Amino acid sequence: MQAWGVDPPHRLDPAEAWHRFQVFDTARQRLVDAGPAQGTARLYVCGITPYDATHIGHANTYVAFDLLNRTWLDRGLDVDYVQNVTDIDDPLLERAAATGVDWDQLAEQQIQLFRVDMAALNVLPPTHYVGAVESMSLVADLVVQLQRRGAVYAVDGSDLADLYFANGSDPQFGSLSRLSQDAAIPLFAERGGDPERPGKKDPLDCVVWRLARDGEPSWDSPLGAGRPGWHIECAAIALDRLGAGFDVQAGGTDLIFPHHEMCAAEARVATAGSEFAKAYVHSGMVGLDGEKMSKSKGNLVLISQLRDTGVDPMAIRLALLNHHYREDWDWTDEGLAAAGGRLNRWREAVRLDAALNADEVITQMRAALAGDLDAPTALAAVDAWAGASTAIDGDDADAPGLVARACDSLLGIRL
Ligand code: ZN
Repeated sequence: MQAWGVDPPHRLDPAEAWHRFQVFDTARQRLVDAGPAQGTARLYVCGITPYDATHIGHANTYVAFDLLNRTWLDRGLDVDYVQNVTDIDDPLLERAAATGVDWDQLAEQQIQLFRVDMAALNVLPPTHYVGAVESMSLVADLVVQLQRRGAVYAVDGSDLADLYFANGSDPQFGSLSRLSQDAAIPLFAERGGDPERPGKKDPLDCVVWRLARDGEPSWDSPLGAGRPGWHIECAAIALDRLGAGFDVQAGGTDLIFPHHEMCAAEARVATAGSEFAKAYVHSGMVGLDGEKMSKSKGNLVLISQLRDTGVDPMAIRLALLNHHYREDWDWTDEGLAAAGGRLNRWREAVRLDAALNADEVITQMRAALAGDLDAPTALAAVDAWAGASTAIDGDDADAPGLVARACDSLLGIRL
C-alpha cells in the first residue's frame, strides 16, 4: 500500500559525542536502550483501522514515534519502519453498514485522509505501509504455523467454528500487561475481544481466523474462507517485514492489552519462543474535558477539521510535543493557542540575520530526545535560544539556519 510523501529531514552534522538513547519499555517497566548503536533500527507502529478520520489521539501517537524515527536517523542509523492498516475488521464493517457506504470505499477514503493529515503534520512515512487485505496469505500462513504447534483450536458447539489462539500455549502470556484475569477480562471485552463466547478454552483466547458470514467480505485460505483477527494481522506483518526481535513495537497505551500482548504471544509461539520485539513503547492518551476522545462520546478533535479552520499543522504538532509522549493529558484551545505563539516566536528568531550560536541548543535538543524522547525539554531549549537571540544582537549568521534545520530534523517542526 502506498504511504504518504514528506520531504526527508535535512541531516545535521553528527554530534561529537552521543548521549545514550533510551526509551521506556512497558514490558520491563524501565528505561532501556533504543535500537542498535549502528546499522538499521527496526520499528513497528500499529496503524489505524480506517473508519474514522485522524483525531488528536492518533496524531499524538504517530508524532511521538516520529520523534523516535527522527532520533535514530539523526544518529546515523537506517530505519526500517513498518506501519499496518487494519483495512478489514469489525469496527470498519459496522461503520460501513451504519453509514451505507461500501466497507472498502470507506477504508480508502479514510486512509487517504490519514495520509494527508500525516503529511501535513510532517510525520515521516513508514518504509513499508501494509494493509491487512493485501496480507491475507501471510496471515493464513501464520495461523497454519500456529496450528502445527498445537496453539490454534476451533470453537466447539458452533456451526461457525472460528479459529482461536490458545494463549496457554505461550508460557509468557501476560508478561507485557501484567493484568490479573479479573482485570483483563473486562478490558478484553471493551477492546474488541469476546470473553463470553461459548466453546473457548480460556476467556482471553483471541480469534485468529473468523469464518465467512453472509454479507461479510471473506478471503479463501487453507483455513477456509474467512478473514483474520486483529492481533494476528500485526504479528504476521511484523514477522514478515521485520522478523522476530525487532527493536520497538509502538502504539498508544490502549494497545498494551489485548493487542500487543496477543501479537507478542502469537509471535513467540510461532517462532519457538523468540521475543517478538526488544522493547514495547507506548504513548499516553489525549482526552478532552477529562474524557477519552471517542466517536461514541462525540468529542473527537479531528486534524482535518483543525486544518480546515486554518490552524497551522506545525502549531498542532507543537501543541502535541509540549507534552511528554508518555503523559495522559487533555487537549485545549489554550494549549493550541500557546503553541501558535511559540511557533511565531521561533519563526521570528530563525528569520534573524544573525543570532546566538546554535551548538548548545542543538546539543540540548539531542540530549533531551535521547532521554526517553523528552520533547518538552527540547522545546524549552529552543525557547531559550529564540528568546535570547531576539533580545540580544547575536553575531552568528549561520545560527538561524542551523536551528531551523535542527527543528525540522529532530522535532519535525518546519519553520
Ligand atoms: Zn497492531
